[in-house]
Amino acid sequence: MSSYTNLVRWAKSKGVRFIRKRDSLLMRVISALLYLVPGISPTIFMDRFTSQIGSTVYWANRYLSTQQKARILSHEMMHHHDSQRMGFLKFGFIYAFPQILALPAIPALIILPIWYGSSFLREVEFNHTWWLWLLWLVFAAPWPSPGRTWAELRGYTVTLWTYKKQGLPVRYDRIIKNFTGGSYYWMSWSTKNMEKKLEESRRRVLDGTIANHIPYINELNDAWEGKTDAE
Ligand SMILES: [Zn+2]
Repeated sequence: MSSYTNLVRWAKSKGVRFIRKRDSLLMRVISALLYLVPGISPTIFMDRFTSQIGSTVYWANRYLSTQQKARILSHEMMHHHDSQRMGFLKFGFIYAFPQILALPAIPALIILPIWYGSSFLREVEFNHTWWLWLLWLVFAAPWPSPGRTWAELRGYTVTLWTYKKQGLPVRYDRIIKNFTGGSYYWMSWSTKNMEKKLEESRRRVLDGTIANHIPYINELNDAWEGKTDAE
């Protein structure tokens, strides 16, 4: 059996389900909202990026070989593992921090203009300091996200491991760009720091000490080889 088939069986035994992005209403809604956000285009989000929310993996719409899928699934299962370990809410919060702090502004964005614009309500005394509530929007700027950088560094370290497993060369520059560019909303501002971190991961993957730092690799390796007792 191929490593990909083994991995899918293992992931399913952990409650993970799979769906194509184009078949998911949630993903269509998110991609529509992305028109409002700089960094990642809705088309790229749908066609090129595989995403994960909770225990669902949303496959990118483009064609993916089973070799690619094995690599992507290994990366996504790292996030699933961390999310299970830490709890979905905590993991989600640190992953989306600090941008998640802009959420309180959303009700204000809807309510304030209506309130302000309504002639009936304008007769009621309107306290202009309510507009200060919109200051939460400051958090929506592409500030660095230490939590997302941490989680994705673990994910991409697993990706490096999968490339080694498949005997394929790695485009390090592309991975660095994922950290410092718009794909993950500029989660890191320092190319130098990411180069250093990724180099450390590369060394650990090559000398085999990676499992000391990310024990999940041992389980992943068993799953890859079909050695788990997943049904
Ligand atoms: Zn990831």
